[in-house]
Amino acid sequence: MIHNNADSSAARQVCFVTLGCKVNLYESDLMAAQFAKVGYTCVDREDKPEKPSDVYIINSCTVTSTGDKKTRQILHRCRRENPNAVIALTGCFVQAFPDKAKELDGWDILCGNTQRKIMLPLVEQVLTAGGKIVQIDEHTNDEKFESLQIPFFAHKTRAFVKIEDGCNRFCSYCIIPYARGRVRSKPITELKTEVAQLAASGYQEIVLVGINLSSYGQDLGLRLIDAVEACCSLPGVKRVRLGSLEPELLTHQDLERMAALPQFCPQFHLSLQSGSDGVLKRMNRHYDKAEYARIVNDIRDCFENASITTDIMTGFPGETDEEHIESMQFAKDIKLSQMHVFEYSPREGTAAAKLPQLSPQIKAKRTDEMLTVKHENEQAFLETQVGTVGQVLLESHFIETPVSLRAEGYTCNYTPVYIDFSPDTDKDTLKGRILTCKLTGIANGHAIGVPVNE
Ligand code: SF4
Repeated sequence: MIHNNADSSAARQVCFVTLGCKVNLYESDLMAAQFAKVGYTCVDREDKPEKPSDVYIINSCTVTSTGDKKTRQILHRCRRENPNAVIALTGCFVQAFPDKAKELDGWDILCGNTQRKIMLPLVEQVLTAGGKIVQIDEHTNDEKFESLQIPFFAHKTRAFVKIEDGCNRFCSYCIIPYARGRVRSKPITELKTEVAQLAASGYQEIVLVGINLSSYGQDLGLRLIDAVEACCSLPGVKRVRLGSLEPELLTHQDLERMAALPQFCPQFHLSLQSGSDGVLKRMNRHYDKAEYARIVNDIRDCFENASITTDIMTGFPGETDEEHIESMQFAKDIKLSQMHVFEYSPREGTAAAKLPQLSPQIKAKRTDEMLTVKHENEQAFLETQVGTVGQVLLESHFIETPVSLRAEGYTCNYTPVYIDFSPDTDKDTLKGRILTCKLTGIANGHAIGVPVNE
């Protein structure tokens, strides 16, 4: 196909469509920075760009089958939007299921996720010479972390910094180790350079993310806490938060070192997946309920007002009624602060997909029941926060009413907070600011914050 698009990169618009996790978001922003550097106008599909783009980069996710379906739909939508555009499909769906990806219509470039820095030259090659390119390299065991640093994040309050890639765990339901390869970590020197630059450009909160973040440093003789301390040692870094964690890789020493860091945000997203020992075993998770509870209690001993947030799955193959009830009871007993509830979705190529599956009706019923536990836990957590004073980092979106300008933000332990200002307040003076607030009440799943000392 001849792509009679704008004839210079300066006039070209590239649109990024990112599905999935914070690591994918980071990598899309990384690719955007490379295109921007050579003059492209970078837009995000979320922002509903006014005009069709010359290039589309679809960064896919394959954690659930819904991700695959969404990828197909977006591919067709972009092709309809500009029949002459260069469309590149990349990400975990392409890496994990290359043959399925090749069967799809509408792409010009199929690129795996082993290297993000090759996307720009591949696009420029197709823009000039036409044709189709398939570049999907296998992950190897001696693969190194792809050293690329991000200079900025498009319209984001906090900076997500990818420090780890890959996973060696092979939980029985998970396709990620096949899509992302083995654990590899960003060297500390590169991390410090990147975070120092982000802090210098005004980001007050750094969120360290990875595919299996808790495994950070296993290939470098380091631990996650070393990366956290390195970030907290840099000037201008006000807050350091962690992405999703595998619980059993956190030691008491790690927690004590984290508790000694004033910038450390005491929110622990400890991925639980199930509150039933039988199900955890069949998931090939590396802890049981007792171990999870011990780690949670250790965190609560080390931090005054930490939050424990989590992911929990319902409807895992073979899950009995008793195991489901056990899982709900454990989630209640642990008093989780926030819960992301997922319905099990079979992933071709995983061990669990070969097991007898539960009916969609049973899965839906159990998801509803677990969502009730979620709402009760989250309400109970908010009630524990009323009366406390917290540092609230304000987001960039607001709710405007004739009587108030309502800002949304998050405390260090990730309590969602609403703060009301007079309707004529200038939003730009609020975005990204950290305000000391007393939490005085609850509304719509948020605490109500009143600024103190302002
Ligand atoms: S730890 Fe388990 S769930 Fe998480 S990415 Fe690795 S295999 Fe998947």
